[in-house]
Amino acid sequence: MYPPETPPTCDSCIREPRRQSRYAPSAYSRLNLCDECIKADIRCYSCQVRAAFSDGRLLRGTVKVDDRDYRCSYCASPSLVESQDAADKVLYSTRNWLDKWFARHGEEEKILAKLSISVTLVDAATLATGDGEKGTILGRAIWTRGSTDFQIKIIRKLRVVPFLETLAHELTHVWAYRTGNDGKEAIEGFCNYVAYMALGTVHGKLADDARRREAYMLKEVDIRYGGDFKAIRLGCRSETANPVTFFKKMA
Ligand SMILES: [Zn+2]
Ligand SMILES: [Zn+2]
Ligand SMILES: [Zn+2]
Repeated sequence: MYPPETPPTCDSCIREPRRQSRYAPSAYSRLNLCDECIKADIRCYSCQVRAAFSDGRLLRGTVKVDDRDYRCSYCASPSLVESQDAADKVLYSTRNWLDKWFARHGEEEKILAKLSISVTLVDAATLATGDGEKGTILGRAIWTRGSTDFQIKIIRKLRVVPFLETLAHELTHVWAYRTGNDGKEAIEGFCNYVAYMALGTVHGKLADDARRREAYMLKEVDIRYGGDFKAIRLGCRSETANPVTFFKKMA
């Protein structure tokens, strides 16, 4: 005889026995939520899973970074980019990776290395206002026409992997601007494609994080950020395909 199955309790409110959860655990926070907690309408800024209620209650493990900025239990856990020094290190390695990636695909060498590019950690509220490339909701790149100074803003307290992904996306915008490809409709999809390729290079202890983030990117439904990204990915599946040429030929 097997012991009777215990009905699953809600991972957030733990009150039991709850009605059996009809919902799959959230992809990122891994919380199994009950009928009440699934109504939490404020999302994690980093991964968009449910994180809090608008009346102020937080789901288990959620951290409120500021008024508009919440992190689910997963995205709030350690390995966060909190210092300028940590941000600069990722900027340096990601920029070099992109320069090599573009050179490998027939582009001029060291385009990004020749520019003055800085990365600043900002609050979500700051990021959401002002001019510049709209970016992903996690970052944006800002420059003035003709200048060689580029500022990338990324929200504070991201985990290293989404930080790297956001940076790769924004650096691709900078590359596109420098090479005269920034006016293309498919630019957001292309930036996401390059960011996705950058995630593919992440192994070791951050590998699990990177694989989750890749899955998250593939679920993007927006026609530009998701649709164009998937079109480039499908069109460039063969070893010999050149995604840069592919992108340039797109409308
Ligand atoms: Zn609950
Ligand atoms: Zn999250
Ligand atoms: Zn963008």
